[in-house]
Amino acid sequence: MTKTADSVWNECLSFIKDNIKPQAYKTWFEPIKPVKLSGEALTIQVPSKFFYEWLEEHYIKLLRVALVRELGKEAKLIYDVRMENTYSSNRPQIVKIPSSNRNPLKPQKVSVPVEVDKRELRNPFVIPGLQKVKIESQLNPNYNFENFVEGDSNRLARSAGMAVANKPGGTSFNPLLIYGGVGLGKTHLAHAIGVDIKDKYPDKTVLYISSEKFTQQFIDSVKSNTRNDFIHFYQMIDVLIIDDVQFLSGKAGTQDVFFHIFNHLHQNGKQVILTSDKAPVDMQDIEQRLLSRFKWGLSAELQLPDYETRVSILQNKLFRDGVEMSDEIVEYIAKNIKSNVRELEGVIISMIAQASFNRKEFSLELAKQIVDKFVKNTKKEVSIDYIQKVVSKYFDMDVVTLQSKTRKRHIVQARQLAMYFAKRMTKTSLASIGAQIGQRDHATVLHACKTVDNLTETDKQFRKYVEDLTKKLTF
Ligand code: ADP
Ligand code: MG
Repeated sequence: MTKTADSVWNECLSFIKDNIKPQAYKTWFEPIKPVKLSGEALTIQVPSKFFYEWLEEHYIKLLRVALVRELGKEAKLIYDVRMENTYSSNRPQIVKIPSSNRNPLKPQKVSVPVEVDKRELRNPFVIPGLQKVKIESQLNPNYNFENFVEGDSNRLARSAGMAVANKPGGTSFNPLLIYGGVGLGKTHLAHAIGVDIKDKYPDKTVLYISSEKFTQQFIDSVKSNTRNDFIHFYQMIDVLIIDDVQFLSGKAGTQDVFFHIFNHLHQNGKQVILTSDKAPVDMQDIEQRLLSRFKWGLSAELQLPDYETRVSILQNKLFRDGVEMSDEIVEYIAKNIKSNVRELEGVIISMIAQASFNRKEFSLELAKQIVDKFVKNTKKEVSIDYIQKVVSKYFDMDVVTLQSKTRKRHIVQARQLAMYFAKRMTKTSLASIGAQIGQRDHATVLHACKTVDNLTETDKQFRKYVEDLTKKLTF
């Protein structure tokens, strides 16, 4: 009997079934479809990239054994990955990826069902081993306009975003800078604009990237001598979305390269969308020429949502999750969580988890417990600005003095204490703490933390400072 993809795969399945738990089999193997057998190479179709990664991570050994049993030592496995994200690229719905194939499933040449861009540009998104077809927009389709609830707090930013999506590069909102505090929807809105543009203009190259990743790619490109490729790559984009540009603060090299990319895109009528946790006037350590570019278009703020908006956001989330909750509970949550949309959602997620683990009803009691936890946690996180204010006030100086370059001992100590508390009480990186406290580097911050630790051990007066400040900062 000649072997077919179906027959080979069925044999593999019965072997696999005997070797793993039924639930795992159902989850990870039933959805797979065999599509092709050519020689010793079996192609299977998996529903998503995640699925493929999971198989490679958890079941590759088992798959290998099963395949070798059926096809012999030279057996090869190729995945057809259904791209889950229809916004990722316009044409390819399927990308073929060879199994990572630790022996004896030898790597197979990747076959890509669409023509690869002819120009030999190095694409910084290429993950070694994965063939890259088109520029993936890196957009998350779950962040769209439909589920971005409108309210007074976001109306300007939201409608500016929609205007940009209707005519990318063709409005005066270029760049569009969306700014606002943590968890207020900057990332969501930025994606929504990109997703909408992809819907309306499938041929436009849209790219979403965080500033952190952008910086990393830039650094890598410098190391590997491909800085020009990096710049060219970004200059080809029609709609560039850069998230959290405050992260570029203090990074002169990245700012410089971004400045050139920005100018090129802007001059060519391409759209730039930026988000930041601060208004341009409040951004620190961003070059003036770049800041002035940021102000060319429109800066739109996402403000704290008012009570009605918070209620709608909660209701919207519940509706999407198919969960019912009494108005009383929804109102309670909306009244008590005020500063952050992410936390509003977090409370709902915790409620659902708690209620289903413990088979409990959604009760006001449960809501109170969970809200309590969230509120306490929020209080713990203080900002670096706040720390600098408290420390300078304690030592009777102003923040500018605290940040100054002076070596006067009492000022140095105050600055070191501010760094120490910033490290202890926030999740900010050493580099970013340094940038925010008088433009120091990460080594200086590290040194400050060690010095404070040492002095707390050996110097009574200093220990008192630390204790006093800890109290002031925690209450
Ligand atoms: P930021 O980038 O400003 O820190 P995010 O965009 O990550 O915030 O938003 C945090 C969470 O809150 C996300 O899950 C997002 O979907 C949700 N969110 C924020 N604003 C809204 C809104 N207006 N409507 C619905 N969900 C929102
Ligand atoms: Mg964000």
